[in-house]
Amino acid sequence: MTSREMLLDAHWSRFEAWCSAWGRSALPASPETIDEFLELFPGSRSQQRLRRQAIARAHAAAGESSPVTPAATPTVWHEDPKLADVERALAEIPKYRHPVGLRGRRDAFLIVLTGYLRLSRSQARSVSVDDIELTSILKIRGRVIPIGNKPVTCMACAVTRWLRVVGNSYRGHRRETYQLLDPTRADLEDHDCHVEVEEDWRVADQLLLPLDAHGWARPGVPLSKGAITRVLPARRRASGFVEMVGPRTRRATRFNKLTVAETYKAAGELEEKVAAAAARAAEAVAQARRLGLDIDGLLVPVPDEEDDNEGPGDASLAAGLARPVGVNGCCPNRGSSLERSPGSSSHFELRPKTGRTSPTASSVAV
Ligand SMILES: [Zn+2]
Repeated sequence: MTSREMLLDAHWSRFEAWCSAWGRSALPASPETIDEFLELFPGSRSQQRLRRQAIARAHAAAGESSPVTPAATPTVWHEDPKLADVERALAEIPKYRHPVGLRGRRDAFLIVLTGYLRLSRSQARSVSVDDIELTSILKIRGRVIPIGNKPVTCMACAVTRWLRVVGNSYRGHRRETYQLLDPTRADLEDHDCHVEVEEDWRVADQLLLPLDAHGWARPGVPLSKGAITRVLPARRRASGFVEMVGPRTRRATRFNKLTVAETYKAAGELEEKVAAAAARAAEAVAQARRLGLDIDGLLVPVPDEEDDNEGPGDASLAAGLARPVGVNGCCPNRGSSLERSPGSSSHFELRPKTGRTSPTASSVAV
């Protein structure tokens, strides 16, 4: 045993003795008990830190989650009644399907690191495989990750779900990643943290992987600090999302309970309805065409004096363009004439039929 361990043991013994003398529970201890103890026995900052560490260490050794709240350091996770707490945020994060489930799992892991362990962005980015102990008790940096009542809000599940997929994601194994995120094989009633996790997560050099727009990992650097700052509030905004998983994740329709004969009958009726709707649509199109012809008949090109001065090529072009556009299309410039501007090969002029405008004032590029 090192001298530091002996020192921690001595601090723990003193805390334990005080608890038993005053009728407090030492293991597990409540945060209030610890605060009371530290107040009664003042000491230097480093001494108080050692006492906290001793209590946390004894809890970790007993498989209890640590009651020691880390010293208040500015972190990216803010207490805000308008934003979801850790469990609520975990509940509403998608856990299956690619890419939403992969991104969701990564973000749930980030929430445990920043919201529960209160790691800063830099600390969260530097969490590596060596920081994780995955035995019957899950620990990150020596702290126990608690098992929640429900699998969807369980912090240990949030970690194991990510570890289960991060290795394949890191190596770009798409087929395996899809399989792990298959919602039809999932059951959100069972704790993921109770199922053994294969060791391939240990290949990931970064655990907080950045994901591209298509949901594939970009290994090399961990998620940026800016991305962490953006992800957390977005994940904490209540959306009411409830994930549907299981063998039958398709939404129920009115056809689900029909027999084969009834299904054929219903399909036949649906076909008839579609045919009737198509016939109505065809009639509407025919009516529109007839209306178009009628309107075309009413539009007569008005001769323009300037047309007489143009060359034969330009005049015929102008006449062709001035003719109302055919019935099958609609003419956006109906009521106007497009004319080629004299001396220009690439500009036309848009002119109302009933008036004259200056050629320079209304030139438009086509
Ligand atoms: Zn769990």
